[in-house]
Amino acid sequence: MAINKLGVETVPVLVGPVSYLLLSKLAKGVDKSFDLLSLLPKVIPIYNAAYAGLESTLSGLNVLVETYFADVPAEAYKTLTSLKGVTAFGFDLIRGTKTIDLIKSSFPKGKYLFAGVVDGRNIWANDLAASLITLQSLEGVVGKDKLVVSTSCSLLHTAVDLVNETKLDAEIKSWLAFAAQKVVEVDALAKALAGQKNESFFSANAAALSSRRSSPRVTNESVQKAAAALKGSDHRRATEVSTRLDAQQKKLNLPILPTTTIGSFPQTVELRRVRREYKAKKISEEDYVKAIKEEIKKVVDIQEDLDIDVLVHGEPERNDMVEYFGEQLSGFAFTANGWVQSYGSRCVKPPIIYGDVSRPKPMTVFWSSTAQSMTKRPMKGMLTGPVTILNWFFVRNDQPRHETCYQIALAIKDEVEDLEKGGIGVIQIDEAALREGLPLRKAEHSFYLDWAVHSFRITNCGVQDSTQIHTHMCYSNFNDNIHSIIDMDADVITIENSRSDEKLLSVFREGVKYGAGIGPRVYDIHSPRIASTDEIADRINKMLAVLEQNILWVNPDCGLKTRKYTEVKPALKNMVHAAKLIRSQLASAK
Ligand code: GLN
Ligand code: ZN
Repeated sequence: MAINKLGVETVPVLVGPVSYLLLSKLAKGVDKSFDLLSLLPKVIPIYNAAYAGLESTLSGLNVLVETYFADVPAEAYKTLTSLKGVTAFGFDLIRGTKTIDLIKSSFPKGKYLFAGVVDGRNIWANDLAASLITLQSLEGVVGKDKLVVSTSCSLLHTAVDLVNETKLDAEIKSWLAFAAQKVVEVDALAKALAGQKNESFFSANAAALSSRRSSPRVTNESVQKAAAALKGSDHRRATEVSTRLDAQQKKLNLPILPTTTIGSFPQTVELRRVRREYKAKKISEEDYVKAIKEEIKKVVDIQEDLDIDVLVHGEPERNDMVEYFGEQLSGFAFTANGWVQSYGSRCVKPPIIYGDVSRPKPMTVFWSSTAQSMTKRPMKGMLTGPVTILNWFFVRNDQPRHETCYQIALAIKDEVEDLEKGGIGVIQIDEAALREGLPLRKAEHSFYLDWAVHSFRITNCGVQDSTQIHTHMCYSNFNDNIHSIIDMDADVITIENSRSDEKLLSVFREGVKYGAGIGPRVYDIHSPRIASTDEIADRINKMLAVLEQNILWVNPDCGLKTRKYTEVKPALKNMVHAAKLIRSQLASAK
């Protein structure tokens, strides 16, 4: 610890050498099998210099090794806790429940234990009584003056301060703890451990937890029943994908290499103004609907002019692909200022799933059927899938994540079936964030992928053969998870492979059998650069070298929301040209 210039005691934090190397990316051209840890001997002297430098500035350096986000494997625990020059070890005891047993079976004498009992990654109030029991039992192992109470990880992934929340009602607020409240919890636990228990704080906490457990807002009997009834079946569509694709083709009559887009069209300043004013009740519902309809018509006309085969409505009514659904489902709450860092300097405001999830009424049917009525071409219904909703929200911690995911899946299933009844023959269920939920430990991947893929299948297992189900995945590391992706059993999958064409192609070269429709990106929407017809045609040809022509789709790699019309129109024009060019080449080659 050190006293900084403001007189505050602080702990300087460094990323340790092993994490530093393992989190590094291999430069282009470096062989995949390169062992990052072989660089340790080069990195360690730099760390040594850094620690020595710190030591001379901060008198008597104490090193704390902090691990988080998962259990520490038994082998690693042994190595770690035998480190000599370390004063303290910190563990995530929320995601690392097995680590508690390791600590109890052996912990080095004279070292400090930083016990991460307050979850740093969620927004829920801690169960203080339970944490205190855990801490007391750990104190018996490591010794009275050697136990430090801590959060399970840094507070980067939680919201900042509940004080800023004006929208949440008092009951829900009492169930929550953001970063500022978590620090208070840590302090209260440490004081309680030292015999200065703040009884009223602890009893207020117990009361809040019991109100959460018994609140009718949390439990919805019929949702619980429906989710429980899912057990034992794996929810697959009745027929094989090849049979379904035939039935769909009869109805849709698409050319080979059908063209489509991923969903959103550019979100203009005007569009944002309309949504904002409607939300603030500055414009009437009638005016709002009229404005959105006009926007949809514009997007439909553009796509017809471009001669795209399967159209989208452009998602003008959606501020965000997950929040839009959260707002219409029950069991969700929204914060006014619950921002967290997503990546780089991007921040998001995840909604909170606090209760059983249900869908009171159709969410997208009105807009999708309105859009379908404007064109004779197939209009894709556009939904966000259960796994993506789960992975981008703050999720309740009073039941396993997969149970919550199944509940969301059932709500989306209702929507899929209503869209089908409403005359929508192609429905895309986005699973943009499927990969983001992969657990840290490889050993846990298959369990996650099983329930994630199952959740996706639940959403569309009830539709007719002739209804075409698409899914879209961002940053999907197709190669690693190819078998899970096939197991999703979608009719068509569009994927973002912007930075790894070669990698994607290699899966198919290596002989993975893929019979459903597939739309790898033919151009990158993350760049304003407009790909030429030749460039796109070249890409399609590369794909055709490894994929059957009757399963290949032509589409950009993601939604067009962040681009301008001046970029989108010429890019799509080139895309359609390229598809037509290759269609005619294929026809004349016959
Ligand atoms: N349908 C969404 C869109 O087009 C998908 C976005 C995403 O994959 N992130 O915006
Ligand atoms: Zn995407």
